[in-house]
Amino acid sequence: MDVIKLNPFDSDYIFDTAQVEAFWTNNLPAIRHQVGFTGSAGHLLLRSGATTHLFVDGRYTLQAASEAPDVERSTITMGFFEDVAAYLQEHAIKRVAFDANSFTYREWQKANEACGDDIELVPFTENLMAMRMVKSEEEIAIMKEAIEIADVSLQETLRIFMRPNVTEKEFAWALEKAMRDRGAEKLSFDTIVAGGENAAIIHATPTDRIFNDGEVVLIDYGMVYKGYCTDRTDTVVLGTPSDEMDKIYNIVEEAHDAAIAAIKPGMTTPQLDAIARKVIDDAGYGEYFSHSLGHGVGLEIHEYPVLSPRAETVLEPGMIVTVEPGIYLEGKGGVRIEDMVLVTEDGFEQLTPLREKGIRSFSSISRT
Ligand code: ZN
Ligand code: ZN
Repeated sequence: MDVIKLNPFDSDYIFDTAQVEAFWTNNLPAIRHQVGFTGSAGHLLLRSGATTHLFVDGRYTLQAASEAPDVERSTITMGFFEDVAAYLQEHAIKRVAFDANSFTYREWQKANEACGDDIELVPFTENLMAMRMVKSEEEIAIMKEAIEIADVSLQETLRIFMRPNVTEKEFAWALEKAMRDRGAEKLSFDTIVAGGENAAIIHATPTDRIFNDGEVVLIDYGMVYKGYCTDRTDTVVLGTPSDEMDKIYNIVEEAHDAAIAAIKPGMTTPQLDAIARKVIDDAGYGEYFSHSLGHGVGLEIHEYPVLSPRAETVLEPGMIVTVEPGIYLEGKGGVRIEDMVLVTEDGFEQLTPLREKGIRSFSSISRT
């Protein structure tokens, strides 16, 4: 099992662990988190006992100056790898850790070619995402605003478009537009709108299939606001669900509620996953809950910690995770209920709005 330790983004930790004078990353969310730069390309060099240096290309000179005024910056003239290598040589830096979770094989080759024999490049294999698990007050405030926008957008879209004869694509577009109209910068992932048997497909793509009376519709949606992602899933029904869909909704709801109620600091992620999995197992649907319970959310849609039986992280106050159990029955349909939850000092705070118990039903009378 991978055990992910909590490390604040403390560059001394990297320098000590890897015994290096500098750390080199091109991971954009890490760079954004560390210095505020939001461009689509850039390299960051953290130095032991010296100023951090941000390398950007000509498209981003002005943007970097306004977003990251406190760090040393330069605009590359040769190429990222060549310019970083020249900087290392100029500053007589001999041993550098590179971000092994971010550099591609080809980038590692380029870094080696540029650095030559004088500079030793050593891999730093811990994922920097671990350093973003605990959110600051400011990050939490932004995510609450984002969630509010996403929720108002969903409620409006449900009211108008959750009707027979509306297609999955039409609903998805209406929801996406509603979020953009209210300030979303973009989507945090491709919206999932899946009706009837399509709801059994865990990551379904919206199609031209229309909603029909008695069918469940699974909507998994999220948006990015001020750089931060939201993620939530609602499963609703037009008219009256089949007995089987009603039954699995109640089981998923019970698993979801039990897991959320158990969230507190000190608990491990496999323990939390097991609480939801046990409810679904005991009801006889264990084999149909074929994914992890949830994941961290932040600058990226899938962050640490991973709530799964296979990766262990101890929950800490300030972490924001999703709880999203589901049951998927091929050819029939599926149910997933997903919410975002903040781990607090003494337990949890559900960030996405609370729901009424039971599957939410919409009128099956067609709009004409
Ligand atoms: Zn989701
Ligand atoms: Zn999710």
